[in-house]
Amino acid sequence: MSKTIAIFNQAGGVGKTTLTHNLGYHLAKRSHSVLLVDLDPQASLTTFMGVDTESLEKTPFDALINEEPLFILKDIEGIDLAPTNITLSVAEIQLVNLDFREVRLKESLEPIRDDYDFILIDCPPSLGLLSYTSLVAATHVLVPIETHFKAFQGTNLLLQTIAKVRKRGNRQLQLAGFVPSRYAVSNSQDKRTLKAIQEQFGTVAPVYEPIPRTTAFADASEQQLPLALYDPKHSALKILDGLATQIEKL
Ligand code: ADP
Ligand code: MG
Repeated sequence: MSKTIAIFNQAGGVGKTTLTHNLGYHLAKRSHSVLLVDLDPQASLTTFMGVDTESLEKTPFDALINEEPLFILKDIEGIDLAPTNITLSVAEIQLVNLDFREVRLKESLEPIRDDYDFILIDCPPSLGLLSYTSLVAATHVLVPIETHFKAFQGTNLLLQTIAKVRKRGNRQLQLAGFVPSRYAVSNSQDKRTLKAIQEQFGTVAPVYEPIPRTTAFADASEQQLPLALYDPKHSALKILDGLATQIEKL
């Protein structure tokens, strides 16, 4: 059965988009059909995948506001992408006045859900309507969390939001787990924070192996490639592949 995973954390810069891109690639490499949905008006995922945001025919705006079929670009290094650009920020404002706004993304995915084994939604760094609509559309939510002391700020709010969506908007939503990100093994604060994340959240959901901090992720994104294609021998690939194996089992 198809799984739709919202990659969610209202904090910015925690590695959501990098995780969406790379996890998507590793799932596709393991012969799964994968769709990535860029639901962040900043369009980092679209850019990381080498798509010119200015030249898009359509974005999720058209699906959410005009109820058109979701616009999809096929087969970018084996992955399909619903690309976006800054016009999506207008959708967040216009959605407020529309009926059934929370279910519009879910409805736009319904006709294509069976075409994919995995649909990953890259959420914006906010608790606004675009994130909410992603959580309503999702079967699972995966939370990247930075191994930095400030990671705990806002995490209660994040968990409350997931609980609220489960109660009111999507009873099926499962917390797939936490992915500690940007982890520097040589940094004592990172080590302490990782331990605290494991202790505090490990009782709630799985805490996966941390993704190491390395500039190779940013360099790969600059070259518009997943890390596996930018540096096929990089040591972080083992962790990403291990994570893909866990996500396959959801
Ligand atoms: P978000 O989507 O949560 O805002 P991004 O994935 O865009 O976060 O990552 C923010 C910045 O951190 C980007 O410049 C990205 O290249 C970099 N980054 C992401 N993951 C890592 C990592 N594991 N190590 C080092 N830098 C990373
Ligand atoms: Mg992002």
